[in-house]
Amino acid sequence: MVGIVIVSHSAQLAAGVVELAKQMAQQPVPIAIAAGIDDPENPFGTDVLQVQAAIESVYSDAGVVVLMDLGSSVLSAEMAWEFLAEDQKSNVKLCEAPLVEGAIAAVVQAATGANLEKVVAEARSALSSKASQLSVTETEPNIKLPDQEITVVHQEATPQLIRLTLHNPLGIHTRPAAQFVATAARFQAQITVQNLTKNSTVVSAKSINQLITLGVQQGHEIVIAALGDDAESALKTLQQLVTDQFGEIAGNNRQVVEEETSPPLPQAAIEGAKLVGVPASSGVALGRVIPHQLALPEILDRPVDNPPAEWQQLQLAIETAKRQIQAVVSSLPGQNTDEASIFQAHLLYLEDPALLDPAYQRIFEQHQCAAAAWKIVIEEAIAIYQALEEPYLQARAADVRDVGQRVLQLLSGASEIPLDFSQPGILVALEVTPSEVAQLNPNQVLGICTVAGTATAHSSLIAKMLGIPMVVGVGKDLLTLVAGTELALDGETGQIWVEPQETQKRRIIARQVQPRNTKATEAITQDGKKIPVMANIIGVAGAEFALESGAQGVGLLRTEFLYLDRLESPTEEEQLAIYQAIAQVLGTLPLTIRTLDVGGDKPIAYLNLAPETNPFLGWRGIRQSLDSLEVLKNQLRAIVRASYGHNIKVMFPLVSSVREVRAAKRILREVQRELHQAGINFARAIEIGIMIEVPAAVTMADQLATEVDFFSIGTNDLSQYVMAADRTNPKVANLADAWEPAILRMIQQTVTAAHQAGIRVSVCGDLASQPAAIPILLGLGVDELSINPPAITRAVVAISQWRMEETEAIAREVLQLDSADAVREYVAQWH
Ligand code: PEP
Ligand code: MG
Repeated sequence: MVGIVIVSHSAQLAAGVVELAKQMAQQPVPIAIAAGIDDPENPFGTDVLQVQAAIESVYSDAGVVVLMDLGSSVLSAEMAWEFLAEDQKSNVKLCEAPLVEGAIAAVVQAATGANLEKVVAEARSALSSKASQLSVTETEPNIKLPDQEITVVHQEATPQLIRLTLHNPLGIHTRPAAQFVATAARFQAQITVQNLTKNSTVVSAKSINQLITLGVQQGHEIVIAALGDDAESALKTLQQLVTDQFGEIAGNNRQVVEEETSPPLPQAAIEGAKLVGVPASSGVALGRVIPHQLALPEILDRPVDNPPAEWQQLQLAIETAKRQIQAVVSSLPGQNTDEASIFQAHLLYLEDPALLDPAYQRIFEQHQCAAAAWKIVIEEAIAIYQALEEPYLQARAADVRDVGQRVLQLLSGASEIPLDFSQPGILVALEVTPSEVAQLNPNQVLGICTVAGTATAHSSLIAKMLGIPMVVGVGKDLLTLVAGTELALDGETGQIWVEPQETQKRRIIARQVQPRNTKATEAITQDGKKIPVMANIIGVAGAEFALESGAQGVGLLRTEFLYLDRLESPTEEEQLAIYQAIAQVLGTLPLTIRTLDVGGDKPIAYLNLAPETNPFLGWRGIRQSLDSLEVLKNQLRAIVRASYGHNIKVMFPLVSSVREVRAAKRILREVQRELHQAGINFARAIEIGIMIEVPAAVTMADQLATEVDFFSIGTNDLSQYVMAADRTNPKVANLADAWEPAILRMIQQTVTAAHQAGIRVSVCGDLASQPAAIPILLGLGVDELSINPPAITRAVVAISQWRMEETEAIAREVLQLDSADAVREYVAQWH
């Protein structure tokens, strides 16, 4: 007898369906369930191995019919089918029939002893009786369903159809296509669209790629076909969308239509023009456009023997890419802007069966690895767009390339941007990720400007650290600039001049500071006190740049960037290689490595950082590390191993209690003991420090000082916690000002406690990178500064201008002032 398998997200639903079906059958039928997952918190889901086991439990030569609910059930069923022995596959049919009706029909039919084909046919036709009872009309037959829909057995029922004429001015371009796809996706029915005017092929309404390539324009007639339970309401809803002209004629949206109707500025029109964005990293630049993403990265196309694992890897990369894009969208000032619609379309590309299905086939049928399969699919999609007649559609190739590239980078682990560096220039991009910026060489990339982005995004902070001027949120006109166009960029005001005139160029050149690699000398005050000036860095390029700029070591290596834009934590060996490479650059100069400082505000999917209501008061810094022991131990092992022959120090972020420090030290000792037992060499005297960036750490500084070798004050976080002002919220960010006397008093308190206990204090927050603040910090007794490499030369000059007694007088005075402005004014008088 044919066996039946029910695959569902819900164990209860599956049990109910089976119970109902059994009641109808005359004979017992072998039925198995694969439903729900073993997670009491979130029991809904499907598991491929469970499906495979269920199939095998009812398998016989008579065959098995597998019925499933929706979404991942379909994928799990397909994967389980792939896992079956070759001789079993032809006897197992995945059936697209609706779950309840299909299961009952299949069980009843199987109970009669019918063969596999008959049971499948009966299940498939299960909807027709319901349809006829509800008088659902079927008008025109024979509309072909697209090949791209994931169906294993072919549909024989007939779809419902509607014909419509498009009246909206731009036809189905990206924005309406995105709306159309999002609407169609709400329905289970298989929905297709054909452009009758162009006699096009029939495409899936759930594929933005296919829909756009229909080239539907104003006045064109289309036919929409739907097949499935909710076909009728799907058609009605889509009809409404088309009749409403995709909301384009509604009052509020009129302006949007007008904006879209006006084509992007041609190159000639923007020459000499000024674009304005949000200043994200200060400094000015003059150079030629280097467009981001000239080519997709090279991928080694190796055959793989575990296609399901590759498919899972691709899905993970796609999910991560989606999260990255969603983060960009939510950082945009408006959700209905052109920029937002670009990114929203990118999200749809990542759900598009026209890309996913061929990738699936390549992985499972041709045993290609995920990256190679995805790359070919993207290249093919780009070629299709480029071959289209309409320039508007040709331009969509760039979108596919962009979104494809994002996934490929995640898959290949490479953050390298393939750029043409034949001469230094200004990078122009839709958006750049933090790890992309981290690997840019400031001597090659003179400036960055992006369509989207915010000044507080990680990528902007990294640009600041590298001293690369950056303007973000410029808008999509930026993308019309071709390679080689000359730009002048002002990272202070956010202005960009296209093909600037001579006078403008001269103004920019006059503001360019000394060449980047002017080396500073030792920092000594007028009365001979040496102040070590260290660098804040994020990687090997930063370490080289820091030394070129005159740093005497690294006071803060932010290790977060190693963990960003990836699918899993970097391994111990990967981290070791990077720490060793940095230590190699520094020789025996100090290298302070801060352990991972991520939190709820940074999207690192694999660390299970769930969104939090108050991310800055949440699970971040040392708190998160102490709860993720494997990740922390992995990192500490790499740091300790890299210490051999070098002067490496460990620093823990966001400490708010003595017990956290003790716990972290215990783990460090444990790691050292294990490495010692394994006979691995490391430096015996690794100094341990903590960041002082929480008010509790300041008030407990006397006790904390007895636990560690040094403090490093993080004024960026200390300001936001002391002032209770989120540093990323523009409405209150000006309150989080490290010049506030409240913060300066905290610094004084920290220094006093540290010096009483005989330990050193450094400042590594942004305050130390501001030359005007240096006399205050020296006067408060700070022993060392750790600053962004581009600010080192100016810091050294600033230090050499003061006598210690002058700085102490200044510090005494500013501690009595009542505002950050008053402090700034007071210090300014001294110059
Ligand atoms: C700080 O908070 O001042 C600091 C240096 O750490 P981060 O900016 O990385 O949070
Ligand atoms: Mg901090």
